[in-house]
Amino acid sequence: MNAIYLDNAATTAVSPAVLQEMLPFFTEHYGNPSSVHSTGRDARKAIENARRQVAAAIGANPQEIYFTAGGSESDNWAIKGAAYANRKKGNHIITTAIEHHAVLHTCAWLEKQGFEVTYLPVDRNGRVTPEQIEAAITDKTILITVMTANNEIGTIEPIAEIGRVAREHKVLFHTDAVQAVGAIPLDVQAMNIDMLSMSGHKFHGPKGIGALYVRRGIRIDTLIHGGAQERGQRAGTENLAGIVGIGKAIEIATENLEEKAAKLSAMRDRLIDGILERIPDVRVNGPRDGRLPNNANISVRYIEGESMLLKLDLAGIAASSGSACTSGSLDPSHVLLAIGLPHEVAHGSLRMTLGSDTTDAEIDKVLEVLPEIISGLRAMSVLNRETSTVTDEVFYNGTK
Ligand SMILES: *Cc1c(COP(=O)(O)O)cnc(C)c1O
Repeated sequence: MNAIYLDNAATTAVSPAVLQEMLPFFTEHYGNPSSVHSTGRDARKAIENARRQVAAAIGANPQEIYFTAGGSESDNWAIKGAAYANRKKGNHIITTAIEHHAVLHTCAWLEKQGFEVTYLPVDRNGRVTPEQIEAAITDKTILITVMTANNEIGTIEPIAEIGRVAREHKVLFHTDAVQAVGAIPLDVQAMNIDMLSMSGHKFHGPKGIGALYVRRGIRIDTLIHGGAQERGQRAGTENLAGIVGIGKAIEIATENLEEKAAKLSAMRDRLIDGILERIPDVRVNGPRDGRLPNNANISVRYIEGESMLLKLDLAGIAASSGSACTSGSLDPSHVLLAIGLPHEVAHGSLRMTLGSDTTDAEIDKVLEVLPEIISGLRAMSVLNRETSTVTDEVFYNGTK
């Protein structure tokens, strides 16, 4: 049996239609898009077609889309590029405590270069408010960067409202929309977004290809210097097949988006509600409403996320956790700590992220095996009502 893959926030499978579209660009239409001959011109045409597909999906113009090597590069470019292009105006950047490391580590690096960064706290559901953003703006603020939706707990941020605040104060607004593209509707005009990062492999496109939207008229410094590709803004021979892939993938992902999102949300809620019904002492991380349609994140009292992952894997279920070893560090997820979870509870987290191909039967299977796994692990755990320091209140899910 194939694994039940519930780790779509980490990466997704390339869909067959996307692969089909990409294949000829490896062996047949492999020209360098900068070449003058017709093989090169065919490649150029394919790139410009993909640029239109990406632009259409977020309400942008094709000239506002730049292809990159993924979400991390897009985040680095937007933030470093805006910081350096505006450093005569000011040196202050506003972000949140729950951003992806591609944003947080970029900001930390900029701090070493003399920039000042405000890391806004979030509430217990992982939300930052437009009021917090507004209060943090100073006459030195040059950039606000807030993710559209969180990759761990699924929280959707009030991006349109933050965009309005940024616009009113004439501060650039970047959003890491890597988890949001293909999951919720996005419109850079309506949401006043100046820069937006996305990554192909998070919506059934290939890995190593991303895009950055930069609103027309905004100048940011170049990150990758060299040739004149991407209108002189991002050097390097284009990842032709990857670009064709992200174009096709975003087109498919944003087709009938609301319908697909409603179906996924219902499946996600059945998973979460089923877990809460069957397993005592579980908390839901992130809000019940206003979370990504595919994201379920729970903390299970008295046990380690890591051990749940191993047991699930043996049962043929692929999931993820915000606990220690997965992330290669001893600290639990910065996101789970930022929503106020004690270390013990953050260590007991389990993230299951559904995909467009997740079935009801797969959800049933998880609901069947997870309670057994958890009661087995609890029976062996050193943590229990006597040894745990965590209060019952942390595991209260009374409010939706
Ligand atoms: C996956 C992810 C990234 C990084 O994207 P890559 O294409 O893997 O570099 C950045 N931000 C968020 C929110 C992500 O989920």
